[in-house]
Amino acid sequence: MSILVLGGAGYIGSHTVDQLIERGYDVAVVDNLVTGHKAAINANARFYKGDVRDKEFMRNVFQQEDVSGVIHFAAFSIVPESMQSPLKYFDNNTYGMTALLEVMNEFGVKRIVFSSTAATYGEPKAIPIKESDPQVPTNPYGESKLMMETMMKWADKAYGIKFVALRYFNVVGAKPDGSIGEDHHPETHLLPIVLQVAAGKRDQLSIFGDDYDTPDGTNVRDYVHVLDLADAHILAFEYLKDGHDSNAFNLGSSTGFSNMEIVEAARKVTGKAIPVTMAPRRAGDPSTLIAASDKARETLGWAPKYDNMEAIIETAWNWHLNHPNGYADR
Ligand code: NAD
Ligand code: UDP
Repeated sequence: MSILVLGGAGYIGSHTVDQLIERGYDVAVVDNLVTGHKAAINANARFYKGDVRDKEFMRNVFQQEDVSGVIHFAAFSIVPESMQSPLKYFDNNTYGMTALLEVMNEFGVKRIVFSSTAATYGEPKAIPIKESDPQVPTNPYGESKLMMETMMKWADKAYGIKFVALRYFNVVGAKPDGSIGEDHHPETHLLPIVLQVAAGKRDQLSIFGDDYDTPDGTNVRDYVHVLDLADAHILAFEYLKDGHDSNAFNLGSSTGFSNMEIVEAARKVTGKAIPVTMAPRRAGDPSTLIAASDKARETLGWAPKYDNMEAIIETAWNWHLNHPNGYADR
């Protein structure tokens, strides 16, 4: 039986597909390549090019594959874009989940591991953020993902489709051999932009705000390595396969790094100056986001291997050095 990975050509999806294959799973990928790259998909996975919202296409895939469960990464995820084009997010993300659950129910597929996000919590009332804390998103992206969680909750009650919602904090790094990595267009995330400056592809980094209530005034975030994240998806899939009930887990390191600390660490790893200028705050940025991640460790047995920021940045830098133009050069 196969695991169906939706969005398996994207940054996190491609690393998870790669890890699933390395561990001997049979994997099929669905992706419309709207932001993903065909070259990122492990050659041992079967690839179906198409859209999750296209139910006829999805029925075809479920007919061809004997699907034991779904891992669902396929979504849009740029916060500022979601503020400008909210309906684009509710269509692709939220409606995508409606269509998917409908087809899963038709085919009697009862397991889904879902990419949720810290953005479902909004501005936290307390740090570290626990899974039981209120989810009050401050942007349409986070809202679209919270709606997807809610849909899964009711689809579980009505149809018995069991889910694990994995609420990621900031995902960084790449497979250490440099063969796959992060290649978004446009790139909006802090670390890849920092490394593009180090590689001479941008002149400087703008840091969005230095007047937050944090030790150095810049935002604090919780970073998790993409391979540790991939590992959590495999554990979550096995958790459902073992017959456990639906659940939600934060995935973070429980350690915070300020934006300036990330720049300092990247300067050490790359040996480059990485010029920065201070810019106004970015709309919707909470001051500090740090996960309580003990639930995933205790319940799933998740044991992240990457706990050193410089070692994490090293893996991302290796990808940048190997692929200065991302997947365009493959
Ligand atoms: P990504 O854009 O690299 O990957 C998303 C993949 O889904 C792409 O390959 C894209 O082509 C595909 N896709 C999108 N809509 C589709 C559709 N309708 N049908 C078929 N394929 C479709 O993004 P990523 O950074 O790998 O993030 C993956 C998931 O993780 C997203 O759902 C995102 O919300 C979530 N997430 C990411 C982060 C992060 O730091 N990158 C943090 C929290 C949550
Ligand atoms: N950030 C920044 N300059 C950039 C991109 C990001 O200062 O060019 C900051 C952003 O304001 C936030 C942190 O880096 O404080 C992480 O942002 P990112 O978009 O990587 O992830 P997010 O926390 O929004 O999911």
